[in-house]
Amino acid sequence: MATVAQPVPRPAVKQTQCFIDGQWVDAASGKTFATIHPATEEVIAEVAEGDAEDIDRAVKAARRAFDSGPWRTMDARDRGKLVHRLADLIEEEIDYLAALETLDNGKPISDSRGADLPLVVDCLRYYAGWCDKIQGDTIPIRGDYFCYTLREPVGVVGQIIPWNFPALMAAWKWGPALAAGCTIVMKPAEQTPLTCLRMAQLAAEVGFPPGVINVVPGYGPTAGAALVRHPGVDKIAFTGEGQTAKTIQREAVETFKRVTFELGGKSPNIVLADADLDAAVDGAHFALYFNQGQCCVAGSRLYLADAIHDEFVDRLAAKNAERRLGDPFDPATEQGPQVDAAQFDKVMRYVGYGKEEGAECVTGGGRFGEKGYFVEPTLFTGVRDDMRIAREEIFGPVMSVLKFSDVDEVAARANDTPYGLAAAVWTRDVSKAHRLAAQLRAGTVWVNCYDNFDAAAPFGGYKQSGVGREKGAAGLDAYLETKTVTVGLG
Ligand code: NDP
Repeated sequence: MATVAQPVPRPAVKQTQCFIDGQWVDAASGKTFATIHPATEEVIAEVAEGDAEDIDRAVKAARRAFDSGPWRTMDARDRGKLVHRLADLIEEEIDYLAALETLDNGKPISDSRGADLPLVVDCLRYYAGWCDKIQGDTIPIRGDYFCYTLREPVGVVGQIIPWNFPALMAAWKWGPALAAGCTIVMKPAEQTPLTCLRMAQLAAEVGFPPGVINVVPGYGPTAGAALVRHPGVDKIAFTGEGQTAKTIQREAVETFKRVTFELGGKSPNIVLADADLDAAVDGAHFALYFNQGQCCVAGSRLYLADAIHDEFVDRLAAKNAERRLGDPFDPATEQGPQVDAAQFDKVMRYVGYGKEEGAECVTGGGRFGEKGYFVEPTLFTGVRDDMRIAREEIFGPVMSVLKFSDVDEVAARANDTPYGLAAAVWTRDVSKAHRLAAQLRAGTVWVNCYDNFDAAAPFGGYKQSGVGREKGAAGLDAYLETKTVTVGLG
């Protein structure tokens, strides 16, 4: 990870309007909304509040760019060059963008500069390389025919993203869409529109044709819903909460839009008695507390083998006691605030449920400081599988520790959840590792590591954690249609 040595000054905000058809414009209504720095609760900037009319203009621009603009007809290698140039420009501005992400989201600068933004660059470069490698098959069908397939872009895509990794979620969605030749209308989360808007400006500077990338900030039930309903949109790609995805799926069915969903999780992190404990303690700590616990893959159910439970808990508690909370612009800070008051309240509610249901709160459980939405790193032991803190997504720095004695038993318990996004296993026993990896019903299983997010590796959920995949070749497929061409040779 890149490191940050000096305290970082707060960046100036440059883009706050809607980006439609290559132009910066106010919302048609003239309305704006405030975006807040979660560490101080101060207003950073007023941002255009897009709504149905702005979405309609953006979709029409994306439609034109797709149907008759230069984007689809551009040589695939030239499309790749543009995506590479965007990655290069983001890399040139990486310090500014990381600071902007920290300002808007509250995440520590060491994370935004060391993880989020480098992963943005890497993801765009990975998909830039795909642009000229999208190809169909020739199919040996019966009779005197020549049959082949073409892989074509799905069309105009509506992309709706959350606030936990704002720039990275934009890159995960722009990368494959651009490689496939789609055009984009993105609605960033109301809490964190700033990096996405800046990236749109950089896309304009490197020469993306107008209408290829449009960004309309605004609220989900208004701007987001208008995008989902719009008949000019061919596909919706969404990351966020399951309940929101259900609403989107119901609306999208009216026009048979393609949908891909990346949703929540309650990921089991299983440590066997023979694990390398130094690595497993660090890994379990990172798995849950990274990004203030605001990760869809957070290792929030920590299953510890009986034999190592007590020592493991002591070591986790010691790490929590040392964890540095504070100003996210200080490079020494390890944990910033939750993204907003609503998330802070939700996390504190779950801390209350844990206590009421009889779990033992070993560390944390309270607010940190007087300003900002900081929650102490919280560790519950004595958690049962049926407690709310073991079943529901908290999305905060609250770890639930559960004990187990038998490997088959723990696999069944780990799978007893409506979610299936990620899971992890820590062991030195290769057979047990592979057996568990096969048994766990999750889209990603990490063995002796956690939160590895290479752009080339597919990512997505089993069960209620999602539909479809992002990243890798599978992520590209989600932006392509297959056309079969059959030529009679007789
Ligand atoms: P949401 O699912 O509400 O938000 C995600 C995105 O969807 C945002 O851009 C939001 O807009 C938009 N949206 C909301 N309603 C609609 C709608 N009716 N039609 C179209 N788009 C819509 O999640 P929240 O931000 O409210 O977070 C709530 C919980 O969701 C968290 O506590 C966490 O448990 C989970 N979550 C999971 C994430 C994941 O990565 N799996 C990421 C974020 C949250 P806007 O915010 O502007 O209203």
